[in-house]
Amino acid sequence: MLAKLQGQLVIATHNSGKLKEMRELLTPYGVAAVSASELGLPEPDETGASFIENAEIKARAAADQANIPALSDDSGLCVDALDGAPGISSARWAGESRDFEAAMEKIETSLSAAGVTPPFNAHFACALALAFPHGEVRSFEGKVFGELVFPPRGTLGFGYDPIFLPNGFSRTFGEIAPQEKHGIPADGSPGLSHRARAFQIFAKACLGGQLAR
Ligand code: IMP
Repeated sequence: MLAKLQGQLVIATHNSGKLKEMRELLTPYGVAAVSASELGLPEPDETGASFIENAEIKARAAADQANIPALSDDSGLCVDALDGAPGISSARWAGESRDFEAAMEKIETSLSAAGVTPPFNAHFACALALAFPHGEVRSFEGKVFGELVFPPRGTLGFGYDPIFLPNGFSRTFGEIAPQEKHGIPADGSPGLSHRARAFQIFAKACLGGQLAR
């Protein structure tokens, strides 16, 4: 798999927040990445029933269309008291206009309608899938556990970051600098975010010898 990557990759996402994080994660490995939106690739329908299934749909479509290996991310926020919602529908809860203030409000309203009181246990999950054109696909999953806080706090990050307080922290993801959120610790210990953790497993399996830093 390592030989086949050859430093060329399309990041199968149209989400600018995810793209930025994935580019920052890949840079130290010397992997030049172009995004699906930069290549004008259409977004496939996410018809899977899990993060892994949806990640594989996106990677498969981008790799076949671009004819170079593709790395995709499917991720979201899972709230225990809402039976794991919004989960794989995390983007859809923000509507066509991707209004995450409204989506965070919807979570707060759903919790209060269900009579749930804090702590609001939740986790972020991330599935990364690497697909080769008309070839194999492999997936890697990472999670980070914590609780939700209202009102939202912080302007760093994207999506649901401002309401997610990772375990052991007094700052939400919206108040944590990008490097601390998804950076990869040099000592090999687990990164903080779900995406960093999935990426570490992916990097070990697929980028082992390519670290350029
Ligand atoms: P999808 O994977 O494209 O279906 O979208 C997942 C949605 O989950 C994103 O649009 C974000 O709103 C949310 N999400 C995924 N990862 C993160 C994160 O690291 N921080 C905040 N929100 C996230």
